[in-house]
Amino acid sequence: MKNLERRVWTVTLGALLIFVAYEIIKTVLFPHISIINSHVITVIVVAVMTFFVSRYALNRYSQALAETQRQTAITEETNRLLSGVLATMHEAVIIVDSQMRVALYNEAAARVFKLAAADAGKPGARPTTSKTSRQEVGSQASSNVEPAHAYRLTDTTRDPAINDAFKQVLEHGAPFELRIEIAERERRSFQLNVAPLGSELVVGVFFDITQLEKLERVRREFFANLSHELRTPLTAILACSETLLAGAINDAKDRNRFLQALRKHAERMNDLISDISDLSAIESGQVKLCLETVRLGRLVADVVTTLESRRADSDVGFRTSIPDGLLVLADRTRLEQILYNLIDNAAKFNRPGGSVNVMAEIEDGKIVISVEDTGIGIAASDVPRVFERLYRGDKSRSSKTEGTGLGLAIVKHLVRAHGGEITASSELGRGSRFAFTLPTASHLEKPDEGVAVELSALDL
Ligand code: ATP
Ligand code: MG
Repeated sequence: MKNLERRVWTVTLGALLIFVAYEIIKTVLFPHISIINSHVITVIVVAVMTFFVSRYALNRYSQALAETQRQTAITEETNRLLSGVLATMHEAVIIVDSQMRVALYNEAAARVFKLAAADAGKPGARPTTSKTSRQEVGSQASSNVEPAHAYRLTDTTRDPAINDAFKQVLEHGAPFELRIEIAERERRSFQLNVAPLGSELVVGVFFDITQLEKLERVRREFFANLSHELRTPLTAILACSETLLAGAINDAKDRNRFLQALRKHAERMNDLISDISDLSAIESGQVKLCLETVRLGRLVADVVTTLESRRADSDVGFRTSIPDGLLVLADRTRLEQILYNLIDNAAKFNRPGGSVNVMAEIEDGKIVISVEDTGIGIAASDVPRVFERLYRGDKSRSSKTEGTGLGLAIVKHLVRAHGGEITASSELGRGSRFAFTLPTASHLEKPDEGVAVELSALDL
C-alpha cells in the first residue's frame, strides 16, 4: 500500500515537472504567441498525453485482471481436485488451524471420528489471518462466509496422543509419526502422520493398519506354530532312535514298537510338509482347476464310505441329504478334498454316538453345501480363526487328535478358487456347521459323461 502511495506521489511530481518544463520551453520557443494559441496547444498536448497514459494504465489493469482471473481459475480447479482426492481417499484426513480447530476433514475422517459426514470436504474452523492459507484449504473458503462447523480437535477425539501430535507439529513445524488405537465404533489401529501445511495449518493423515497388523500376527503365529508342530514329531523321532541305539534294537518286541513310533512321527512330518506345500501352491496360483460337472450326491457318498472305513473304530453316524441328480461345476479331486476335510473334521471333533449330517440345497442360483455335526463345538472367539493356517482349537485335545491344522486353510482357498465362499458357525458343546457355496451346473443334462468344462488357465 505504502509502495502504491509513493508511486502516485512520484507520478504527480513528474507530471508537474513536465508541465513546468513544457511551459518554459513554450515561452522560450514562442515568446510572442497569443494566449489563446498557447491554451490551444496546451490542451492538445494534454489531450495527447492523457490518451497515451490512459491507454498504458488500462493495458496494465486488464493484464492484472486477466492474471487474477487465471489465478482464481487455477485455485478453483486445484480446490475441486483436492476435494475429489480427499473424498475418494480411504485414509482419514483432518486439517487443523493454529487454534486447534478443525479446518477441513474428509468423509473417511467422519467415519472414524465424531464428525458430521455432511460437512466433510467443507472448510470449517478457519485460520483468521492468512487468506492464502484459506484458499489452499478448500474451494468454499471465502473471507466473508461463516464456518459451516467449528469443531475443536478435542471435540472429535479425546485421545491425548492425537491432540499432542497436532500440537507438537504446530509448535515445532516438523512432521511427526505415531501409531494409535481408536475404539470409537470398533477397535482399529492407525499409523498417524502429522505434517505442517504452510505456517498456520497442520494436516494429519490416518492410515488404517488394522488388517496389516492382523496379517502380521497370523504370520508370526504361523511360524511359532510351525516350529512347534515340527519339533513335536522330531523330538519323538530323536528319542525313539536314541532308545533303539541304546539297546532296544536287540529286543524284537521293543524294536518293532519303536520302529512303528518312528514311522508314525515321520508320517506326521510328511503330512505337515505336503499340506504346507499344497497350501502354498494353491495360494500362489500354481494349481489349476479342471472344472467339470459332478454329481454331488455320488461324490459325497464316496467320501463318506472312505471315512467310514478309515474310522471303523468310531461310532459316529453319517447322514446325507442331497437332492437326486444335483450337479455342481467343480474340479472333482479338489471338491473331494474339500468334502473330505470338512466331513473328517465333523467326525474327528465329535462325541461318542454323535452324528454328522451333509446337506445340499440351491439358494439364489448357487448350491449351498453344509456339513453339520453334534460334536464338541468351537468357542465363539475361535470361530473366526479356524481358517487360519496351523490353527488348532483346544491345544490339549488337539495334541491327541491327528491332523496338522492346515485342513480348513486349504479348504477356504479351494472354495474361493471355485468362486464360492465358506462360513463357519458353532456352539461350544453342541456342534458346528460349515457351509460353502458352489456354482450350479444343472443346465447340463447328462452328468459325469465327460462334459468337461476345462478352465486350463484359471488363476486361484
Ligand atoms: P488337518 O485338517 O490338517 O488334519 P485339523 O483338522 O486339526 O488338521 P483344520 O481342519 O484346519 O485342522 O481345523 C482347525 C481346527 O479347527 C481344528 O484343530 C479344531 O480345533 C477346529 N475344528 C475344525 N472343525 C471342527 C468341528 N467340526 N468341530 C469342532 N472343532 C473343529
Ligand atoms: Mg481337518
